[in-house]
Amino acid sequence: MLIRGGDSLEKVRRLSAVVFDKTGTLTRGRPEVTDVVPLAGPEPTELLSLAAAVEQSSEHPLGEAIVRAAEQRGVPIAPGLSDFDYRPGRGVRARVNGEAVLLGNRRFMEESGINLAEAEEALVALESEGKTAVLVARASRLVGLLGIADPAKPEAAQVVAVLHRLGLRVLMLTGDTRPTAQAIARAVGIDEVIAEVLPQEKLAAIEALQKQGQVVAMVGDGVNDAPALARADLGIALGSGSAVALETADIALLGDDLRGVVHAVELSRRTVRTIKQNLFWAFIYNAVSIPVAALGWLNPMIAAAAMAFSSVFVVMNSLRLRRFSPSL
Ligand code: ADP
Ligand code: MG
Repeated sequence: MLIRGGDSLEKVRRLSAVVFDKTGTLTRGRPEVTDVVPLAGPEPTELLSLAAAVEQSSEHPLGEAIVRAAEQRGVPIAPGLSDFDYRPGRGVRARVNGEAVLLGNRRFMEESGINLAEAEEALVALESEGKTAVLVARASRLVGLLGIADPAKPEAAQVVAVLHRLGLRVLMLTGDTRPTAQAIARAVGIDEVIAEVLPQEKLAAIEALQKQGQVVAMVGDGVNDAPALARADLGIALGSGSAVALETADIALLGDDLRGVVHAVELSRRTVRTIKQNLFWAFIYNAVSIPVAALGWLNPMIAAAAMAFSSVFVVMNSLRLRRFSPSL
């Protein structure tokens, strides 16, 4: 891991809560389209083709999954894309052959005045399975929805368990809907879920925790996490994440393995403990030796050797950190 400045390591000592982003952080962020549900109108292939056309320009993992699904199923991607617009925390909109096409979550559709009644049943079914439902609307009418599964990373549950054991509060913070978020949270052992937050609200959620007196670490990967990473007492970005996230974080993990979070917390606790031990011994040494020397009971040769030994001791004690091995 890359640690920006020694003070970030020291801050971890007072840490009381760790907040994880969901998509791309707790989950692989390599979601797969599992359900294609057209509603009155297009065939499944036409629905996928339309969705993929819009998401071609998207960098969001959900968008990439939709494009990949079309490719894997040999569905041609509809041509004629224009006016692409990404709406963080909501979805994307664009024109395909002049017609406005919207892809995104319930909030996005509701804000755009699209009637969701027809999709309600399919929506609830997908979400109860922990899948993210992406609604597709064309010319202000709902034409279908896609179910996208993004299972939790294999190490996520272990990491949450160790953090709990270290006495930390563990929370999930996500732009995804509550039922989907809760299904993933249950799978990894997180019991505090803050769902349906927009990127700017992620920042507010961190601030609210800090007002409660918590010292907060935020773990995230996306552009949408950057403000929260910057505001948190300790920002931890996944190495696989976006450039902005990496730049704002205090600690950057290499790769996307969440065990790095446990390493960071344990290493920093050990480091601070070592600093305290070193200070303690350096002070004790001097506190004892200086009065003894002042009374003339200490041979200057021995005093000089003792002084050097004190430095060597501190260095040796610090070097023990090289053999540090985390519990995961
Ligand atoms: P998270 O906080 O879990 O990383 P985001 O804030 O990136 O999630 O996204 C929140 C929600 O916005 C997603 O769950 C999805 O419903 C919707 N969304 C975001 N980007 C897209 C996209 N490119 N296509 C469809 N839906 C999207
Ligand atoms: Mg994310």
